[in-house]
Amino acid sequence: MALLPILKYPDPRLREAAKPVEKITPEILELVENMAETMYDAPGCGLAANQVGVPLRIFVIDAAAEDEPSDLKIFINPEILELDGVQVWEEGCLSFPGATEEIKRAERVKVKALDRDGKEFTLEADGLLAVAVQHENDHLNGVLMIDKLSALKKRMMSKKVEKAKAEARA
Ligand SMILES: [Zn+2]
Repeated sequence: MALLPILKYPDPRLREAAKPVEKITPEILELVENMAETMYDAPGCGLAANQVGVPLRIFVIDAAAEDEPSDLKIFINPEILELDGVQVWEEGCLSFPGATEEIKRAERVKVKALDRDGKEFTLEADGLLAVAVQHENDHLNGVLMIDKLSALKKRMMSKKVEKAKAEARA
């Protein structure tokens, strides 16, 4: 297993739409393992493959609370089937270090995807898990949380990320 470098905003690769996985090969499974390890190490509760420079439709999520056992969920070729209701969550993103913003999303989501064995599953989620599914699915379409903000908040978020990147280099 290996930690993968996470692309940071405004890396143009974050804007590319990811392509479907055609076959779940050992290389894909290794990528999924490494993505999970990278997410836990960061730490974060979700990571999409194009955040580590691989333009494939894969994301991993663990939305378990700190006092709960870990709950790794793997989504390959996910497809959102239903969105319902409204919620606002203070979101962060591993590609936007040092910045969080309140984002409005659907309260409930129904999503289907393949698991690591290539078996299709359907998941209905609410709360943080629903937020994470929508956030990570956006990544696969090249959409980022900053896109959901007003012009002023976009500038503020961009500045926070530049500051965090400069501090990480120092
Ligand atoms: Zn993100």
